[in-house]
Amino acid sequence: MEYKNMSWQEQLRNGVKTVEDLDSYAKLNAEEKLRLSKVIDAFPLLITPYYASLVDWKNPNDPIRKIIVPSESEFSEEGLFDPSNEKSNTVLPSLQHKYRNTALLLSTSNCAGYCRFCFRRRLKENCDSVAEKKDELNEVFEYIKSHPEIDNVLISGGDSLVLSNERLDFILGKISKINHVKMIRLATRVPVFLPQRISEDKELLEILTKYNKKKQIYVITHFNHPDEITTESIKTVKLLINNGIQVRNQTVLLKGVNDDADVLAKLFNELVFNGVVTYYLFQCRPVKKSSHFKIPLNEGWKLFEGAKKQVSGLAKTVRYAMSHTTGKVEICGILENKIYLKYIQAKKYEDIGKFMIKKLPKNKDAYWFDDLIE
Ligand code: SF4
Repeated sequence: MEYKNMSWQEQLRNGVKTVEDLDSYAKLNAEEKLRLSKVIDAFPLLITPYYASLVDWKNPNDPIRKIIVPSESEFSEEGLFDPSNEKSNTVLPSLQHKYRNTALLLSTSNCAGYCRFCFRRRLKENCDSVAEKKDELNEVFEYIKSHPEIDNVLISGGDSLVLSNERLDFILGKISKINHVKMIRLATRVPVFLPQRISEDKELLEILTKYNKKKQIYVITHFNHPDEITTESIKTVKLLINNGIQVRNQTVLLKGVNDDADVLAKLFNELVFNGVVTYYLFQCRPVKKSSHFKIPLNEGWKLFEGAKKQVSGLAKTVRYAMSHTTGKVEICGILENKIYLKYIQAKKYEDIGKFMIKKLPKNKDAYWFDDLIE
């Protein structure tokens, strides 16, 4: 389907959503259709025509395809429903307060595409955790107002940029009025899945520019593979940057997608050459139904260091980290069977900056903080 003649709204309406839609690209047999329809009953399928145009449909191992096309590996029950125990940080249905100075607002359960490794897939099953009505959001704003230690708000979801302009204007307007909030971050895969949402909607850019004059706005993109960096995604990123909005990137380390030092180096380099610094390479969380993406920590460390050898000092500022229940844990190094770690952020304020030495288990791989031995 030719996306170039479609508005961004039409792209969302006409995306690949069913196994029949998928069959027109991927050519599935009857058995595959039946099994994949069960997979997408549990977690939906959505591929915009633009993103579908980036996939090499003849290659079953195409990295972009692995990110977005459901797989029978999702029948695996290994892992956790809420791997970072976000429930324990939830202070209101759509608000989390884990780190003292940061409030996390889950603004929607919708996205411009559903990543098969998503750690918030539970939101699609439980929409109660997202405030859909203005009244519910008022409680969120009151909470932030009454917590002067909160100096920044991260608006995530779902994907904050699939919200309507009106809704986004409302949310940004309310947050911008809170004096002690100095910075707003918008977490989004829109520049990757649907860059036209930004490049073709002048009103959205006007809204972001308007509030950027009141509070510094950071758009946190989520590019995982160099094939996602296109003329159109870069045009979008440049539009944001040229309007004074800061753009940073986060990447998730994923088996079969970017588990290659050269691929990671290309990703970090191409982003930084276009004004976007990747600040985290995240270890894939042990989320249920996505265990096929996981990479052992010692392998991830080698990939990370192999990539960093090939990039400039600026791109080397990226940190390899795990978003654990207890905090954001940086993997500082691995030497023989010892792993060196540090809390970049911590749920317990006194743990921030704490350095830790743990052991990798013998005879089995460690994938997560909880797999490590004291
Ligand atoms: S865009 Fe983010 S929230 Fe949405 S499916 Fe992908 S990882 Fe999950």
